[in-house]
Amino acid sequence: MSVFEFQSVTLPEAAEVARVEIREFLRSEIAERRFEPHRCSWSSFDASFSRRLGEAGFIGVTWPEEYGGRNASTLTRFVITEELLAAGSPCGAHWVADRQSGPQMLRYGSDAAKTHILPRIAAGTCFFGIGMSEPNAGSDLASVKTKAVKVDGGYAITGQKIWTSNAHRVHYLIVLARTGDRGESRHEGLTQFIVDMTSDGISPRAIHDLAGNHEFNEVFFDDCFVPDEMIMGEVDEGWNLVTGELAFERSGPDRFLSDYQLFRGLVDQAGTTPDRSDAVQIGAMVSKLASLRKMSVAIAGMLDQGEQPVVQAAMVKELGTAFERSVPEIARRMVSVEPRQIAQNDFVEVMADTILRAPSFTLRGGTREILKSMIARGLGLR
Ligand SMILES: Cc1cc2nc3c(=O)[nH]c(=O)nc-3n(C[C@H](O)[C@H](O)[C@H](O)COP(=O)(O)OP(=O)(O)OC[C@H]3O[C@@H](n4cnc5c(N)ncnc54)[C@H](O)[C@@H]3O)c2cc1C
Repeated sequence: MSVFEFQSVTLPEAAEVARVEIREFLRSEIAERRFEPHRCSWSSFDASFSRRLGEAGFIGVTWPEEYGGRNASTLTRFVITEELLAAGSPCGAHWVADRQSGPQMLRYGSDAAKTHILPRIAAGTCFFGIGMSEPNAGSDLASVKTKAVKVDGGYAITGQKIWTSNAHRVHYLIVLARTGDRGESRHEGLTQFIVDMTSDGISPRAIHDLAGNHEFNEVFFDDCFVPDEMIMGEVDEGWNLVTGELAFERSGPDRFLSDYQLFRGLVDQAGTTPDRSDAVQIGAMVSKLASLRKMSVAIAGMLDQGEQPVVQAAMVKELGTAFERSVPEIARRMVSVEPRQIAQNDFVEVMADTILRAPSFTLRGGTREILKSMIARGLGLR
């Protein structure tokens, strides 16, 4: 059986300097009441917050300066990210572009795409969505049916995506489409495209979630033209790109801090002299959180070393989202209140909102069953 090590990493000084800077930025944002700490930070879409964050130099920090970055390490980005989440800042608008689309473009985008798009992402004025899932291709992503056909100067895309978060308000989607035959491995013949949401032949349609919010969409493509310069990597080689992109998506602190505001509220409810049962429950949660954070920091360190810790990232997401799912359950046992979406009391509202969102924590970015099967394969158990 293979064994995975998560090396203990000490954060470099530059990361701690960035922590001071981002805390100062957030302190002034809160003092000026530019945002109220939100319940689910990275699901809250606020374009003006993202613009201010970009102006202050906190988006795309790991990218080269020529694309608007500051050549910082992944560990520095980790620190900025955890501070943004802990403060409950509304990061949803730029989240996908900063976390995965931008890094993906840096590796695989054409010079034209990088020059035209990356500086705008770093400035906090250009947002991305993920065009992977389809009605019959979620876990089994290799089954995507959306087709891209070669035409003069580019490709024409026809098909349908689903569960596309924020498709109605982002500027681009990275779309996975079939450009050739599946081949024996089933993973051949797929390509990623950067699709401009203002193109002809593309139409999002709202899906409302359990909490009544409009974040999801179906997206329909009808002969939607994408120029050659918006192809990512090599045509038909998209499977490797997509699996690499999912590794960016799975290992960060967003996979165990989604309901951090509820957790904080719970600690406040328990007060400074909690009874023994509350103290034990909070202590157990804190120790899990600390372990997850260590694992996630270790992965950031591996990314800085140029490694591709795909299985380790799956482990963090599996354990991290299981932790996130447990927080509202423990909250309900510890505090006897009726959760209501609109109430006089913040804790009651946060509890209601988190209960409604929690089922999605273990689905988005790959379900627990799929992650467990990747981990088992990585350990050599299947
Ligand atoms: C909040 C949220 C945001 C999302 N945002 C996006 C987005 O922006 N873009 C995007 O492309 N997608 C997005 N998704 C979709 C998400 O990636 C899929 O929902 C997820 O990959 C599961 O696919 P599915 O819904 O088709 O379920 P299915 O794949 O049909 O799975 C149904 C059930 O069967 C289980 N299952 C499936 N295959 C296996 C197997 N081989 N072994 C064992 N069990 C299995 C699954 O674990 C699951 O429990 C989002 C989802 C959520 C909840």
